[in-house]
Amino acid sequence: MQHVIEVLFPYLILLYACDCITYLGANQFLLTSWFGKKFQIKRSGFRLAGLLPTSQVIVTQRLTFHCTPEGVYVASNQPANKIGITSAGNFEFIAYEDLNCIEVEGKNIKINEIHTIRTPSSENAKYQTDMIMELKDSRRSVRTDKIAAWLQASFDLKAIEQTRFSHSRVFSIIRFLSSYLFLVVFLVLPAVLYTDLSKYAKLDVLVVCIALSYILLLATTVFTVRRSYRSDKDTRMYTLLSVIFSPVNALHVIGYLTRNLYSRFHSLALAASFLPANAFKDFIRKELLLMEQRMDDIERKDWRELWKLKRELAYDLLKARNINLDELLAAPVRQDQSALLYCPYCLTEYSKKRHSCIDCDMALREFEADRQPMVSD
Ligand SMILES: [Zn+2]
Repeated sequence: MQHVIEVLFPYLILLYACDCITYLGANQFLLTSWFGKKFQIKRSGFRLAGLLPTSQVIVTQRLTFHCTPEGVYVASNQPANKIGITSAGNFEFIAYEDLNCIEVEGKNIKINEIHTIRTPSSENAKYQTDMIMELKDSRRSVRTDKIAAWLQASFDLKAIEQTRFSHSRVFSIIRFLSSYLFLVVFLVLPAVLYTDLSKYAKLDVLVVCIALSYILLLATTVFTVRRSYRSDKDTRMYTLLSVIFSPVNALHVIGYLTRNLYSRFHSLALAASFLPANAFKDFIRKELLLMEQRMDDIERKDWRELWKLKRELAYDLLKARNINLDELLAAPVRQDQSALLYCPYCLTEYSKKRHSCIDCDMALREFEADRQPMVSD
């Protein structure tokens, strides 16, 4: 048996390392944390997530559709720009009267068999579809209140905290079990296989210990996914199959369990709940800029009203985190004294006049002219 495990062990490490790499689409964000406390945000591309058994991973995304009392604005399968923004020209407006068919296909929502909208999870796709259907079937007069209520629910910091709290106990057990299994598999097992430690520890006993801990961890995982993802069959199946067919994935199963746990909340509210102050400030500053830009993109009253409402909810998050709006949006301190312009999004400075930022296409702003000292009479 020792020879078989010696041959398999490097593949085990390779499988685990591959499972730590996640691909993020243009509109997706990843909140990751090594120990479940301090989170950081990661944007599109191949990203490392869930390296440790204690690492938590939360996926959130900017949805590519927006509901107003008049209808749905859909940007399906459209290319996003360098910072993940779909331009206003790519949005198509579908009035509720013209909405004939809307169905869920896994994580996607299909509208009128033409538009495909990606969402973070199948549960989220179902939630959003139910919302659109309810708006379609409602009278015009009550749609505004319904949209406001849904948006408020997606910005609800207390509800996020409640979800976090209700899972804290079971996640502590899972973290303990997977950390124990991680140490045994990646430290004790190679020591027994490749060093003199084999004289003191029996490989058979070690394998039985690993198998028993794995079964216990699997049972806790089954209990948690059944409780947390009651209406999300796809996430339930995906998590369980990942852990059963590649047992090494059980070592960081907590990342699988947290991934879609908050999928119905807005990315800004999740950032307010999980990011440290400076990282949240940077994120919300950028999102507020994009909101301003979005608001003027389409000249329709319902569109502008929707973005105004979202902006108000974002301002509430600032209040909750004690952040001053004026300070947040003030021009940055000039690093290069010859700089004339700066990009309000990425804060790159420009000493030559140009219209937009090379990196993010955002319109550049002028640094405030230096104030002359007051001369008294
Ligand atoms: Zn820029």
